[in-house]
Amino acid sequence: MHAWVAAGKPIHQYTEDACSTVCATCAMQIIHGVPLSQIETPTTANHADYFRYGSKYVCSACAWLFGAGKGKPGNYIATPNCMEYAVISLDSVVENKRPWIVILKDIAAMPNDTPVAGVMTTDVKPRLWPKTRIATVGRFGLYIHSADYDVSEYREFDLSACVSLIDTMCEPLANGYAKTSLYHGLFRDYARTVRDTVAAIAWEAEILPHRNKPHFLPALIAAGVTMESKRNVTTARPDSHSQPIAARSDQAGKAQFGLF
Ligand SMILES: [Zn+2]
Repeated sequence: MHAWVAAGKPIHQYTEDACSTVCATCAMQIIHGVPLSQIETPTTANHADYFRYGSKYVCSACAWLFGAGKGKPGNYIATPNCMEYAVISLDSVVENKRPWIVILKDIAAMPNDTPVAGVMTTDVKPRLWPKTRIATVGRFGLYIHSADYDVSEYREFDLSACVSLIDTMCEPLANGYAKTSLYHGLFRDYARTVRDTVAAIAWEAEILPHRNKPHFLPALIAAGVTMESKRNVTTARPDSHSQPIAARSDQAGKAQFGLF
């Protein structure tokens, strides 16, 4: 509902009947809705858990999101005035979608009581939007889905802690560390650690206290640096001419798109 209002109440493709029930997906009281028989398709057949509450209708908002089709809306976030689609990588910004790293910083600057709802996922195929909840900037949360980390849950986390951890993570990322090293510990990347041990120890000390916190994974998913800025760091290094280092750096860059 929240995302639909924020998107300007776009019209869905179904027809609505008068009814007196609750939405089968979001449980909102409705006096008109779309019969489930119109929504159910082969792609929704395995999502029977989204049709609940003994209702045979869904509301206009949920109908719009079901009608958007499989894989939509994927990564998104809605505030009262805006429904926005997000991307994870800084290097594949398309169709006016902004990366999470930018969106989360903007939202963190909004008043604490601003309502917000969204999904952050490394896989846009599963239909996740019915599983998220309404949060606020001050009591923030997103539905987080990442098969790589075996996480698929609505998660409350501290947004400002997440945003500042993203900044902390960007330094080692810009210096070629892979996200998997940020997750498991920077020292597992022995080659990079020995190249600048002082920096590695400092970054690891900053990241360590956050690893078991709820905001760690969303920060890790959102954190990123452009290939461009990473290359600049690499070419600034005196030893960048040697082929093996350049090759490793490229691999770390590719690893940003997935997480492992
Ligand atoms: Zn609904």
